[in-house]
Amino acid sequence: MPYFDHNATTPLAPAAREAWLHAQDDAWQNPSGLYGTGARVKVRLEAAREQLAPLLGCAAKRVVFTSGATEGANAVCAHLARTLPPGTLVAVNRTEHPCVLEAAKFFLGERVVWLEVDRHGVIAMGPLEKLMTAGGPSTRSASSGQAGSGLPVGAVLVMAANNETGVLQPWRDLAKLCRRHHAAFFCDASQWLGKLPAAGLGEADWVIGSAHKFGGPKGVGFVLAAEGAQDFHAQQGGGQEHGHRAGTENFPGVAAMVASLIEAETKKVLLETERLRWRETFERTLPAALPGVRVVGAGAERLWNTVSLILPHGENTRWVARLDKRGFQVSTGSACATAKEGPSHVLAAMGYSPEEARRVIRASAGWETAETDWPKLAQALVEVSAEVKPAEAVISP
Ligand code: PLP
Repeated sequence: MPYFDHNATTPLAPAAREAWLHAQDDAWQNPSGLYGTGARVKVRLEAAREQLAPLLGCAAKRVVFTSGATEGANAVCAHLARTLPPGTLVAVNRTEHPCVLEAAKFFLGERVVWLEVDRHGVIAMGPLEKLMTAGGPSTRSASSGQAGSGLPVGAVLVMAANNETGVLQPWRDLAKLCRRHHAAFFCDASQWLGKLPAAGLGEADWVIGSAHKFGGPKGVGFVLAAEGAQDFHAQQGGGQEHGHRAGTENFPGVAAMVASLIEAETKKVLLETERLRWRETFERTLPAALPGVRVVGAGAERLWNTVSLILPHGENTRWVARLDKRGFQVSTGSACATAKEGPSHVLAAMGYSPEEARRVIRASAGWETAETDWPKLAQALVEVSAEVKPAEAVISP
């Protein structure tokens, strides 16, 4: 059955499963144990750190293993709140995942300046450059175009790829811009990792990732901490992770995460162009079969696996339920947002109305998705369209 909700979570990759079982059978002891078997787990944990770091292009000592991206976002925002000089602003992209948005609001509160995106969902670099040169505007939005108040920007928070739309952000340019202005750059790479090459992400000062988004198990992830951030603590407690994150290390999870990322980097991301072509063919051919359908962020570079569609009619939840009956698992947007009321903050930031947002579904493919699954999804959408026709179309003579 075609599973089209990989941005919510992915099935465990065989390489990750094998690594997890091997580690769980063979290296289950506590790495802090002073006996030989514990020490051996510790050695393997450090080896995993050494394997992960070069994929992102950074030193192994920057890698801090966590329970996932949400923990990472909270820990990084708390660290910025604690260490940025008073009066320093933090520029935050409006379309971040809720774990970054909410952590930024909670820990950084009044320091936050919102960064606007354009109609396609891409960060507007001009206003950001202006903000970083002139200092904070008197209103808390970087697109206000108002003269700077002179408050410096100490950090910029922009994700690599959006979970709802797949829209890619110019993170390489942002890393350079931040370096020029001596601001920290924090990049949530949760949706980028495992789909596109990770090389260069280490240029960002802070990076977070989550294994289950790229074929690893749930409950494990990492933070790349900024060079020299000795006082970074993801959790208070014991001195694990070189003092950066307390809690017994999840070595089997880490081993599985690293195995799945290595596999993605060496075998999968090379297929990106082919997979992009499949998605583009779907998007090009769909409007003829389903008049009125639109692609969110159509004018932007997007992940090869993600398409967010504004359907011509009907509540998205009705479409999702009917697609599910046909074996297609899609979502109305982000899995984390479905428990919340109200339309998606991502679509609102892109200028879509609440009414349009209620007609949006997201399909996100995975490496195991077949080329033929895309036209099958298109066919299912056409069938469902007839079932959720607007009432007036049914009763009109
Ligand atoms: N960041 C992005 C872009 C995501 O898509 C997600 C998960 O949906 C997260 C962060 C949070 O990941 P986790 O639930 O593994 O902590």
